[in-house]
Amino acid sequence: MDQIKGKLTKMNPRKGFCNLILCAVIFCIIAGVGTIAKFGSRISEIRQQIQTVENTSEEQGQNLVREKDGENKEHQKDHEIDWENIVTLQTSDYVFIGCLIAVFWIILGIYWLYTTAYVVSKSWEVGANAWIFGVLTLITNLFGVACLWLYIKLHHICPKCGKLQPRKANNCAFCGAAIYVKCPDCASRISVKDTYCNGCGRKM
Ligand SMILES: [Zn+2]
Ligand SMILES: [Zn+2]
Repeated sequence: MDQIKGKLTKMNPRKGFCNLILCAVIFCIIAGVGTIAKFGSRISEIRQQIQTVENTSEEQGQNLVREKDGENKEHQKDHEIDWENIVTLQTSDYVFIGCLIAVFWIILGIYWLYTTAYVVSKSWEVGANAWIFGVLTLITNLFGVACLWLYIKLHHICPKCGKLQPRKANNCAFCGAAIYVKCPDCASRISVKDTYCNGCGRKM
């Protein structure tokens, strides 16, 4: 547990998320180029066939009134799109699509787990409940991240140890460091980070 904790607190989320975005972009490019290379020629084939069918159905529409039902049906069949030939996938197509889906899920899975790891490490860092935020992120992903962010915003961070403290606290409950002090002149409550007193303007 301590080993995992040590590794997680050392993680660099910015670098990690940049790498993940890079992976996603490379995946999209490969998927796009691969799809065009593999199915591009067939798409133009489909377009051509659709064009032919549209043209003939226009002609048919004009002849429709004159022709008998039976003849008409036969006529239509000749110009229907040969979907079976175009849509039927070969083994290599299945392998290609399968690989794309697999890589997509792998990237998504790594992203999902990485976000959870980030939330857990951040929770440890600020002294929040890593279990609650970790599980929430594992189930809801970004909603969990938003909850942790909100939780941090609703607290003060101790300037010495970095743990979250209630807004009312004057001293850190973890290390005892002062978070708020009283102004010697006007007795206003001032954060130790402030340069000037917000009650009287005294330089702290
Ligand atoms: Zn502290
Ligand atoms: Zn003051």
